[in-house]
Amino acid sequence: MPNSVFSIPAKLSVLAAGLLLIAGSAFARDTVLIGNARLVIGDGSVIENGSLLIAEGAISAVTAGAIEAPEGARLIDGNGKTIIPALIDGHAHLGYQGRHDWGGHNYHPETLRDSLEQYAWYGFAAAFSAGSDPDDMALEFQRGQGEEYPDAARFLFGAGMGPEGQGPNDTFLVEVAEVEERTGQTILRSLTDPEQAATQAREVAERGIPFIKIWVDDRGGSQAKLSPELYRPLMAESASLGVKVLVHQQFAEDMPDLLAAGAAGFLHGRLGEALTAEIAEQTARAGAFVIPNLGLAELRREAIGDDPFLRAAMPAESANALAGPDSGRQASVTRDASNEARLSASLSRLLDAGVDIVLGTDAGPLPGHPFGYSGHRELEIYVRLGMTPMQALIAGTSAAARHYDLDDLGVLAPGYSASLVVLSANPLDDIRNTQSIEQVFLDGREIDREAIAARLSQAR
Ligand SMILES: [Zn+2]
Repeated sequence: MPNSVFSIPAKLSVLAAGLLLIAGSAFARDTVLIGNARLVIGDGSVIENGSLLIAEGAISAVTAGAIEAPEGARLIDGNGKTIIPALIDGHAHLGYQGRHDWGGHNYHPETLRDSLEQYAWYGFAAAFSAGSDPDDMALEFQRGQGEEYPDAARFLFGAGMGPEGQGPNDTFLVEVAEVEERTGQTILRSLTDPEQAATQAREVAERGIPFIKIWVDDRGGSQAKLSPELYRPLMAESASLGVKVLVHQQFAEDMPDLLAAGAAGFLHGRLGEALTAEIAEQTARAGAFVIPNLGLAELRREAIGDDPFLRAAMPAESANALAGPDSGRQASVTRDASNEARLSASLSRLLDAGVDIVLGTDAGPLPGHPFGYSGHRELEIYVRLGMTPMQALIAGTSAAARHYDLDDLGVLAPGYSASLVVLSANPLDDIRNTQSIEQVFLDGREIDREAIAARLSQAR
């Protein structure tokens, strides 16, 4: 951080820098004025040549034209730059992907910190971990994270539930069980009978966990599929307690009954012909959201390790493992035109019905789908399949914030957290410009992206 950003005499700057190292929170109280910038508000509107004022960690003013700089404010010339709200990933599994390898042995607070700082580096303010976290450790991390890890995106998680001992993919299930055994903490809650299912909802609410994730998937016959007799009472009780139930559904055909039971959102799009206009309309009427979740399949075939945007914040050998041609990944993925058309038509049906699309990546339950990076690539896929860049940005900001009850995120407006990204190029021209990150602010504090990248690039 150059000293010149602080409005203090040069001879005091060394002293001030020292004090700031001791009391990092002093910086959080900085007043910052961004002027002359394009402001993509997050709700679908744009202000060209606008100003945005940050004070006390929050956005205190947003306007077209100029704002008079308060005394001592740090000034950022936004000429040619675009400001967007910091992004949110609505579907991930944290704790298992370490810097070098993947597995249950990685699940520690330090791994959560790494992954959430990686998210922050990529301009994310929050990530939702879907049902695979040891709940005591996760709750403790949440309580302390603001003070302990101010450079990290916010950690959200949901309690995972399924038929006894089941839910996650078979490979992941083994790792989840390992973490449960090692920590002695609960990750997966089994649903065994209707009354017990309702009790599980109450237990989760009492623990202060606002989300439940259920798996309704027989994993190609290797697991039991959670039955309506169990998820209906679970969802009814959850609704009465204000706990949202988010669903991994195996098929689009599973959606109508899940919606009738009270599903708050679907973590997989299951885009295709089976996702009919009727299902889309029912989803919209219910106010439920859909995470298309398209990049997981596609990016696994691509030599993403060659992308400088990925290489910048991970150890070189980890990136090499995802690079071509040795990894078996392709430099540029070939796509089947008829499949593209099918996905695109399905996505259109959701948009036409007015369904809220939310950004989610499903990064983490298997190796090789990196946190943060995969979110930018997912946005790119949405636009390729027919969403406008504005619709894609809404999915990653205000829509995600609303459905995950992040009341102070996702929109650039007075009173909201000053969690935003300064881009050097306009994502409304080309969605890939979300990658042109110059600065990231979380709760009014500019994170040190250089330090994060340096730390994450190191071997432990
Ligand atoms: Zn998942």
